[in-house]
Amino acid sequence: MSPGTGPRAGAGPGTSRPAAPAAGPRVDLATVGRTLLAHYGEEPWWIPVLVPELDRADELLLGLVLCQQSRWERVEVVLLRLRAAGTVTWEDLAAAPPQVLEPLLRGVAYPPTRARLLPRLAAGVVAAGGLRALLAAPDPRPLLLALPQVGPETADTLLASTGTSVPVVDAYLRRVLGRLGLVDPAAPYEVLREQLAAQDTGGLSWEVLHALVVEHGIHHCLTGRPRCSGPAVGRRDYAEPRKCAAHCPPCDGCPLRQVCPSSLDPHS
Ligand code: SF4
Repeated sequence: MSPGTGPRAGAGPGTSRPAAPAAGPRVDLATVGRTLLAHYGEEPWWIPVLVPELDRADELLLGLVLCQQSRWERVEVVLLRLRAAGTVTWEDLAAAPPQVLEPLLRGVAYPPTRARLLPRLAAGVVAAGGLRALLAAPDPRPLLLALPQVGPETADTLLASTGTSVPVVDAYLRRVLGRLGLVDPAAPYEVLREQLAAQDTGGLSWEVLHALVVEHGIHHCLTGRPRCSGPAVGRRDYAEPRKCAAHCPPCDGCPLRQVCPSSLDPHS
């Protein structure tokens, strides 16, 4: 899961989208990570703290679940609204009637469904003794996956963001690394996860690498026509003013365009 989901990668003859790379990769994962880090820099506020009274892991899981099929900036609005309503802890959420939750969740995808399911997730976390207890288990991934609304992407993003460096396979990664020829974007989640776990990240944690790939999918490697050359798409309307504020400008194009087999840049 990512702070702001993106549409799936696409390619096709006769469109402006980049074609799927035909040859093998011209670049490796470590070089991609290093290049993106040099371009975007590291942002500790990539997933900002918006609800300081919550433990970071709790805020992360709540935000990640709300982010499923929703943009991160909308999640931020909902998190702040839940906080203002005094319904942001797992205990409060577990006890919240769906008719109370639903209007608070407006802005993210499927508020009626989420209003029904969020209390179940909250009750699951409470029953587990809290998220920190669950994360401290010898093998927390299956425990996370047993929670309602927590799929592999959400579980791995939480693990990667709380100190366990595991690959996070989301739509951004499929699109960006797929266009670079590093992965098959249509491969099943667990297959990609295993392949990526075996690759050298050049010392970057998956928390940082995942964040960089998301940034790249937001600013340059867009679903439709990627910004291979020319300036990137600017920041979206985030609550955290530092988020993406220093990205790219001035920028003359994707830093990977010279090695990307899908580049639309005529000079690459
Ligand atoms: S050159 Fe960059 S923006 Fe263009 S398709 Fe490749 S990775 Fe994406």
